[in-house]
Amino acid sequence: MLIQNKKVAIIGAGPGGLTLARLLQQKGAEVKVYERDLHQEVRLQGGALDLHMESGLAALSEAGLMNEFKMHYRPGAELVRVLDHQAKIHSDQHAEKIVQNFEEEGYRPEIDRGPLRDILLNSLKPDTVIWDSHILAIEKIQGSWKLVFQNGKSVVADIVIGADGASSKIRPFVTDIRPFWTGITMIEGSIKDSKKTAPHIDALLKGGKIFAYGNEQTLIVSSKGDGSLGFTTSAKTNEFWYRESGIDFKDNKQVLAWFKGEFSGWSRIWYELFESEDTLFIPRPQYCMPLTQKWDAQPNITLIGDAAHWMPPFAGEGVNMAMLDALELSESFSNPEFENIQAAIANYEKQMFRRFEKTGEETLFNTEWMHGPNALNDMLSMFSKHE
Ligand SMILES: Cc1cc2nc3c(=O)[nH]c(=O)nc-3n(C[C@H](O)[C@H](O)[C@H](O)COP(=O)(O)OP(=O)(O)OC[C@H]3O[C@@H](n4cnc5c(N)ncnc54)[C@H](O)[C@@H]3O)c2cc1C
Repeated sequence: MLIQNKKVAIIGAGPGGLTLARLLQQKGAEVKVYERDLHQEVRLQGGALDLHMESGLAALSEAGLMNEFKMHYRPGAELVRVLDHQAKIHSDQHAEKIVQNFEEEGYRPEIDRGPLRDILLNSLKPDTVIWDSHILAIEKIQGSWKLVFQNGKSVVADIVIGADGASSKIRPFVTDIRPFWTGITMIEGSIKDSKKTAPHIDALLKGGKIFAYGNEQTLIVSSKGDGSLGFTTSAKTNEFWYRESGIDFKDNKQVLAWFKGEFSGWSRIWYELFESEDTLFIPRPQYCMPLTQKWDAQPNITLIGDAAHWMPPFAGEGVNMAMLDALELSESFSNPEFENIQAAIANYEKQMFRRFEKTGEETLFNTEWMHGPNALNDMLSMFSKHE
């Protein structure tokens, strides 16, 4: 294999980086994952993710981790209720008693981010992930890369894979193409013990997902297996609204006051999401990489996941694409057709560019209608088409 006896450095222990590490280790490669988090438990992992057969699940299957996935996914968590801003239910998959399984085409089982990360981490050889390794810069030294970390350490690697997410430090070494502003800001929130903290929403949620639309604003809520819930609001704003608004997102009273004002047409039932002192809020302005982005493959450095093709989450493709990138890159590295690493990278990047053009387009299409005046009806007709 092309990468036999080469030191492979994957930057970032997100779903993309960990999947790639697993797939390459299965092929006998020497891999380390450098992650800025201090340790595995340091950060609250976000909400539930639906994995798709042709991408996220295909990668897990190749990684030999489907049994672990089936032990930890959450049947029923994929069931959606579509509501208007007054919390009136317009479509309810719980009532339709939809039962899906892995044999059905189009089944998208949900798993929480924490368990998915644990499955991938546990599948790796001991000490594959080097925590507390925040990359500050990389430097080319005679065909290899020197990686320089914030903690003062440095290492040298033969191949570098940037899997370090939306604000990748590795991306500028691959391309100078930058993301564009989509016109939408999302506020992410998470609530512990939702039965107690947000009982009405918890009852509405029924262990699944809520999509609520009104006044060109969107609220998405998803349950988590540990009794907490994650939610996002999103709406059209200026690019730097999150700082120009003057809101301190660590001050929950300010965030509640903002929601009451900005989402004034929405039912009071939603206030539960904002009233708890413990709720954590993160403003997330939404950017997207240009859909037709392309660059020439480099000899020994490439990107996967959000680092390669950051996009808003409105098509639920980000994690799936990150895991499929990992699968396609690992297959390219082990394909005897390619005479060198650069050719293998070029083959992977060609597939990735083509794929992102399609999923990115779908994502931007969803981003537009989900924040348009007919969002509720558009969502309902999309659901009825699927059925
Ligand atoms: C609110 C929200 C909801 C979403 N919902 C969905 C969904 O339902 N379905 C879906 O498919 N996608 C969803 N996404 C998108 C999804 O989270 C991303 O596309 C996905 O996590 C990308 O995976 P990744 O491995 O490329 O990057 P990430 O998950 O971002 O992981 C990158 C890793 O790199 C580390 N890192 C970053 N910088 C450095 C550095 N300098 N040095 C070392 N390590 C570093 C980070 O700590 C992190 O662990 C959502 C995103 C958000 C924000």
